[in-house]
Amino acid sequence: MQTRNIAIVGSGLVGSLLAMYLKKRNHTVSVFDRRPDIREINFSGRSINLAMSARGWKTLDRIGIGEEVRKLGIPMDKRAIHVNGQDEYYQYYGKEGEAIFSISRGVLNKQMINLAEQQGVTFKFNEKVWDVNLPEAKLYTGESEKSEWQEYQYDMIFGCDGAFSRVRHKMQRRSRFDYSQDFLDAGYKELHIPPAADGSHRLNKNSLHIWPRGKFMLIALPNLDGSFTCTLFMPHEGHNSFEQLTSRDKVQRFWEKHFPDTLDFMPTLLEDFNKNPTSALVTMKCYPWTYWDKVALVGDSAHAVVPFYGQGMNAGFEDILVLDDLIEAHSDNNWQAIFEAYQESRKPNADAIAELSYRNFMEMSSKTADLNFLLQKKIEKHMATKYPEQWTPLYSRVTFSTEPYAEALSIGDQQNKIMQKILQTPDIENIWNSEQIEHKILSLLSEPKNTLS
Ligand SMILES: Cc1cc2nc3c(=O)[nH]c(=O)nc-3n(C[C@H](O)[C@H](O)[C@H](O)COP(=O)(O)OP(=O)(O)OC[C@H]3O[C@@H](n4cnc5c(N)ncnc54)[C@H](O)[C@@H]3O)c2cc1C
Repeated sequence: MQTRNIAIVGSGLVGSLLAMYLKKRNHTVSVFDRRPDIREINFSGRSINLAMSARGWKTLDRIGIGEEVRKLGIPMDKRAIHVNGQDEYYQYYGKEGEAIFSISRGVLNKQMINLAEQQGVTFKFNEKVWDVNLPEAKLYTGESEKSEWQEYQYDMIFGCDGAFSRVRHKMQRRSRFDYSQDFLDAGYKELHIPPAADGSHRLNKNSLHIWPRGKFMLIALPNLDGSFTCTLFMPHEGHNSFEQLTSRDKVQRFWEKHFPDTLDFMPTLLEDFNKNPTSALVTMKCYPWTYWDKVALVGDSAHAVVPFYGQGMNAGFEDILVLDDLIEAHSDNNWQAIFEAYQESRKPNADAIAELSYRNFMEMSSKTADLNFLLQKKIEKHMATKYPEQWTPLYSRVTFSTEPYAEALSIGDQQNKIMQKILQTPDIENIWNSEQIEHKILSLLSEPKNTLS
C-alpha cells in the first residue's frame, strides 16, 4: 500500500466521515469547504434534523464512533399520524426495539469534524473549489470565479460537495457523461415547535409526527432540547401551495383549516414562515462517478434523492462502506479497480433509493391516512411477526437492514403485488389475520415473480 495525498471537497456529513476512513488507512487527508468552520458559527440553536438508520449506523460503528453519535439522537420507533377530527394514532416502523434516530445535522457535522481533526485530518474552510484538473488531480480555489486562484496538487480527489457539486460539474463536460436533474413540484419550509415551559417535548418524543393532507404534509422530528423541527412539504404552485401563502393572514387561515391541533405549539409560526426560505427538492442522477484512479464522487454529488425515505445521508454513508470494503479487497492498491467496482456496485442501488424516495412522498402524504393502506400495513406486520423468515416489509428492508436497495425495491414490488391481490379478498377487513389469508400469502410468495402481474 502506498500512502496517498488525498483531497476531499466538502466537509459535510459524507466528506468528514470519508476523511476519517481514509485517515485510518494512513493516507494524508485535506478537506476543503467553501463555508466557514461550522464549529465557529453561532447558530441559533434551532436545528435541521435527519433520521439515521441501519446503513448510517453500520458505517459509524465500523469506524468506532457509533456509540458517541447515538448519544446525540432520539430514537423514533413509530409514525404518529395526525388527522383532523381524530385522535393521534401510531404506526410502528419495525419490530420491537427497532427505531430510526432523529439527530441534529449541525451537531452531528460538528462532532464529525472534531473527530476527524483529532485523527489528523486537515480542514481548509472558506476555500471554495472553482475548478478541478481531473487527469492531474489538481484543485483550484479562490475568492471568486474571476479572482486569482490557488492551485493544489493531490494524488486523488473525492468530490463530496453535495447535489450541486463543482467536481461533478467538471466531469459533466466530458463526453458520454450521463446526467439528469429532476425538481419535484413540491418544495419545503422548516418550522419550529419549541419545548414546553418545563423543557419537555410537547408531542410524543419517540415518534416522527406526520400531518398527512394529500398533496401536502407537515412532519415533525424531536430534538434533544425538547423542541421539534417541523417541515412543511407542499407544491410550489397551484391549489394549497406556497405561492398562495403570501401574507401572515393567509398562513394563519391555512393553518387553522389544515393543522389546527398544532397552533398552540407553534407560537412563532408566522415569523418562521416569513423568515425561513422555501427550498426546492431535487433528484440528481449521473454516471460515471469516477475518473481513472484520480477522482470519485461520493454522497449527494453522485446521487441526490428527495428526502421522503430519510435515506440520502444513509446512502452516502453506505457509499463509504462499499469503498472501504473494496479498498480492503484490493489491499489499498489499484485505485482504478477500486473506483470501477465502487461505481458499478453502487449505481443500481442509488437509482433504487431514488425511486423509493420519490414514491414515499405519496405514502407519507396520502396513504398514511388511507384505510386500505392501514389494513395492508396491519397484514404485513402480522406476517412479519408470524413468518419473519418469509416476510420482511419493504420499509424494514430499506431502513433496518443493509440489504442492497435494488434488491429491497424489487422484493418490495413483488410483495406489493401480493398485497393488492389479498386486499381484494371478500371480507378481508375481518379475516385479515386468519390462517386462510396467511396461507394465501405464503403460496403467492412461492409463485415465480412474473406470474404476479
Ligand atoms: C429536507 C431534507 C431532509 C433530509 N432528511 C434526511 C434524513 O432524514 N435522513 C437522511 O439520511 N438524509 C436526509 N436528507 C439528505 C441529506 O441531507 C443528504 O443526503 C446529505 O446531507 C448529503 O451529504 P453530503 O456530505 O454528500 O453533501 P452536503 O451535506 O450537501 O455537503 C456538501 C458540502 O460541500 C461543500 N461544498 C459545496 N460546493 C463546494 C465547493 N465548490 N468548494 C468547497 N466546498 C463545497 C458544502 O459547503 C457542504 O459543506 C435530507 C435532505 C433534505 C433536503
